[in-house]
Amino acid sequence: MKKIIATLMIVVMTMLLMAGCGSNDEEEATTGATTETGTDTESGAENSEQALEGNLVSAEAKTFSIFLNFNNMPFDSEWAVWQEIAKRTNVNLEGVISKTNANEEEAFNLMLSSGDLADVIGYMNAAELEKLGRDGGLIPLNDLIEEHAPNIKALLDSDPKFRQGATSLDGNIYYIPKNQTLLSAEFYWIRQDWLDKLGLEVPTTVDELYTVLTAFRNEDPNGNGQKDEIPLFDRAGHKMPDEYLYLFDSSTEFYARDGVIEFEPLEENFVYGVKELAKWYKEGLIDPEIFTRGAKTRDTLYSANQGGFTHDWPSTGNYNSSLAEEISGFNNVAIAPVKNQNGEIVERTTRYPAPGWGISAQAEDPVTLIKFFDFFFTEEGSDLINWGIEGETYIVNDAGEKEYTDVVLENTEQTPLGYLRSQGIQYRIGMNQDPDYEYAFMTEEAKAAAELYNGHPEWYRDQVPPYFDGQLDLKYTEDDEAEYKRIMSQIRPYVDEMFQKWMLGASNIEDDYETFVQELKDRNIDRAIEINQKAMDTFLGK
Ligand code: CA
Repeated sequence: MKKIIATLMIVVMTMLLMAGCGSNDEEEATTGATTETGTDTESGAENSEQALEGNLVSAEAKTFSIFLNFNNMPFDSEWAVWQEIAKRTNVNLEGVISKTNANEEEAFNLMLSSGDLADVIGYMNAAELEKLGRDGGLIPLNDLIEEHAPNIKALLDSDPKFRQGATSLDGNIYYIPKNQTLLSAEFYWIRQDWLDKLGLEVPTTVDELYTVLTAFRNEDPNGNGQKDEIPLFDRAGHKMPDEYLYLFDSSTEFYARDGVIEFEPLEENFVYGVKELAKWYKEGLIDPEIFTRGAKTRDTLYSANQGGFTHDWPSTGNYNSSLAEEISGFNNVAIAPVKNQNGEIVERTTRYPAPGWGISAQAEDPVTLIKFFDFFFTEEGSDLINWGIEGETYIVNDAGEKEYTDVVLENTEQTPLGYLRSQGIQYRIGMNQDPDYEYAFMTEEAKAAAELYNGHPEWYRDQVPPYFDGQLDLKYTEDDEAEYKRIMSQIRPYVDEMFQKWMLGASNIEDDYETFVQELKDRNIDRAIEINQKAMDTFLGK
């Protein structure tokens, strides 16, 4: 009886959807019907699991609906690798998002308001997924993992970052994250050819860096007779203006030392760092347009042979080959983070598990689904989602290493990663990213950078909370989050404004600092720290 009502509801919902919305509804309606079929086929197959061969998670073929729209690419069951996955597991997924609906957020809200949830749900925003879980839309997976997902369980037990990413504020696991296994994110890059030309060594301290940048400024390393070099620049200056405070172990953000949250503008390193950056800026060591030049900065300044030093992702290594003909001897290398004024080497950017996928409360066979989720943490499943199909998107070479084929590497329209994702490989599901996958299409320079940084885990501090684009990215209860956002809407713009004033020399931090601190207190920074400490304690599992 229940089932009939559920089916009727789906039909009604589908009709409502068709009646209520514009041009995208045909796919929605079709996939609504698929959900129905999916739930029908699974009846009665519960007890045959012991006889299953290979990685089959079900004795007979089952179909489930899925909501997933990674980078606005709706899940497509026609993707070759997902057909292969279906063949090997007996689980077939049907996407519920119209291929013409490119807006992930809109599609998500549409699904929620329809009341008709897909069996499997993945979303870009971890907080939204967890909220859906706490509201009863996703089921807690803790017991299912314990009983049916030995590979996920093993990773939860062995990788604290993965466990922290997966665990919601209430202690439940509502989604399996996409785990990022490489530590490294951004690297410090310097023009080795400029160092060579000026007879300089690679800087190892922040003071040596100052000396090198000064030489870049004054001694014409690009050799055109003009003082046109821009020693320090960054293409993210418009969104992470405080990135070079990292050199002085500070930022305009919250940070945690030994699990204790602080707001860095209230700390000693901040005052020191701001004074230094103001000096550097005044002396022409920093891009005069660092706050405004925008996302093309790196392209512009390397192509013009003007950029000397930056902090950026592996792709910064690509210019050695792409500019080889234009700029003779162009040689960009990643160097270790320089020792800060306190003598420490610290890399602040690192990776955190991203949201993956969960099981909706309307899914009728969560046991099969959790087994299916577990498949991606087996060697076979991991290879498929990381590399695709052997012989098509990758091969295994004589040394036993995997290599992507030219279909991936020589694709003329997309980057290797872009191509993989467009085929549903490296898609945003609960999985463990194979660290080798990224090495496999790095340039030599990028590979050297990644090996250097990943070879020094001690440069990465323990117990550091997650960040997104330089901003703290912890999980909050709804009330805390509302209060925190309210407070920070009064604090962030003020801090950014003052930081820019000081760095650009429009004002002096020593004159303003007392007032600045008082202002932060008046705007309730202490309460914001308190909220973050609570969130941090939860993050650490306290
Ligand atoms: Ca010059």
